[in-house]
Amino acid sequence: MDEEMILFWIIFVNMKKKEKIMKVIPVLPQDQVFWYLNNNLAAPLMHDITADVVVVGGGMAGLTTAQQFHDKGCKVVLIEKNYCGAGASGKSSGFITPDSELSLFELMRLFGKDTGKKIWKLIGSGVDIIENNIKNYQIDCDYQKQDTLILANSAPKRCAFCYWL
Ligand SMILES: Cc1cc2nc3c(=O)[nH]c(=O)nc-3n(C[C@H](O)[C@H](O)[C@H](O)COP(=O)(O)OP(=O)(O)OC[C@H]3O[C@@H](n4cnc5c(N)ncnc54)[C@H](O)[C@@H]3O)c2cc1C
Repeated sequence: MDEEMILFWIIFVNMKKKEKIMKVIPVLPQDQVFWYLNNNLAAPLMHDITADVVVVGGGMAGLTTAQQFHDKGCKVVLIEKNYCGAGASGKSSGFITPDSELSLFELMRLFGKDTGKKIWKLIGSGVDIIENNIKNYQIDCDYQKQDTLILANSAPKRCAFCYWL
């Protein structure tokens, strides 16, 4: 690998913890997962209510959206058909990475350099929201910041990061 092709980025993955989890998961019953242990079902909605914002789905996306509107002073109603964390969020491995399914290069190719850069930055800011919540609500979840390495396997992809930096 050409050293110039190697780019460093920040990641929030605890490799040591991952090793520990890898040993535990095969014997961990599903009902021991945090979200499943805390699956207190809210009462079904039986009457009309009013709200500024209605969010459908109590996963990471819905809960974060609801929180953001709530913090801006809106009256928010979150509707969840099972319980919060019942979907993919309750099955996540817990790696909080400041990147997306699309690489910075792909985002810039699809949306232009400036918009691609803004989208990449926005995605990374999701990590800040989670980190702030952990601090503000004093959530004991063994959160640790770790380093990571993002590799570019072509010159155009490397250029995308040069433009970003
Ligand atoms: C095994 C696994 C491991 C993963 N590991 C990671 C990881 O380490 N790091 C990472 O970043 N991502 C990981 N992911 C991906 C991540 O979990 C998902 O991208 C993320 O949780 C999606 O959140 P969401 O809020 O969009 O969806 P969900 O968490 O699925 O939330 C959607 C919610 O909407 C509810 N709902 C659906 N339809 C309705 C309806 N009509 N009315 C009311 N409620 C409704 C569902 O019940 C559900 O609770 C993993 C996913 C899986 C499956």
